[in-house]
Order: sequence, then structure tokens, then C-alpha cells
Amino acid sequence: MAELVGAPGEVQRFAVDWMLGRLARWLRILGHDVAYGRHLRDRTLVDSARREERLLLTRDTRLLRDPHLPRHLFVESDHFREQLRQVAAAVPLGGAPLLTRCLDCNRPLDEVPRDQVRDRVPPYVWDTAPRFLACGRCGRVYWPATHRAHMLRELAAIGIVHEERA
Ligand SMILES: [Zn+2]
Repeated sequence: MAELVGAPGEVQRFAVDWMLGRLARWLRILGHDVAYGRHLRDRTLVDSARREERLLLTRDTRLLRDPHLPRHLFVESDHFREQLRQVAAAVPLGGAPLLTRCLDCNRPLDEVPRDQVRDRVPPYVWDTAPRFLACGRCGRVYWPATHRAHMLRELAAIGIVHEERA
């Protein structure tokens, strides 16, 4: 599937079906731009995939009846680890740093100075985390170091070796 591999720095974008919430979240953890939400179902989901050239991930067999469905992958399993394996077998995953997008909003996170997050994170975290990222939309603060080890273990268990580009 070499033709699906983008240029360096180019990361696959997805439009993910409402029923695939955990999969959408993990794709965002991996740094992918993922259109996902209550507002994206049926035609709005398909339109988003087509308009923004996203790979459509769905478990909705009704969508498959559309002969003009944009590039898509029918997700076979109900379990998110199997789902992630299936997607990883079809297109390259990762290639972006982990946790650089808000898991709720999909918005790229901004690095914020320590002093700005003092009241927004637990004191221990404020003392120990090397850097902080925040979502400009919902305000959620991320401190990647804490979740990183856990996430890398989970990805390794699924069989995804995460390699970050500098
Ligand atoms: Zn957010």
C-alpha cells in the first residue's frame, strides 16, 4: 500500500464513525487529525471524509451500500485493540508525536508557560512535569510525560511500534 504513504511529516487524517469512540481517541493519541463527534453521523460523516480527504472508518453497513462512498475502511471488530490493529495494517499509523492534539476537540495543542497552568494542574504535576500543553478551545491541560509510558505500553501490546519523527 505504498501509495497511501504520504510525504514525510504528512500524517493520515480520519473521519471516524460515532460508534468507534475509543478508536477515534487512540488515533488522536497517536497524533492523527480525527473528525469525530455526535454531529458526524451518516451523511455528515461521509461529507466530512469527502470534503477533507479523510479516510472514513465505519462499522455502519448501510454506508457501504453507497457506490460513491469516499475512500473508507469497514472496521470488522467491536474491540478497540482489534480495530486499531486493522487500521494499522491498512495505513501507516503514528509518525507524529504522541499527545499533540486535544483528545476531546482534536485541536492541536499549544505549549504553555508553567506559570499559566499553576492553578490548573495538581501541585505534584506542576512540580515535576517538564512541560505543559493546553487546548486553546476547551482549556484542558496536558502534561505528556505522565501518560506516555502507559500509552506506549498499550500501543506495544497492540503491536504498534511508535516511532516519532524529530
Ligand atoms: Zn480541547
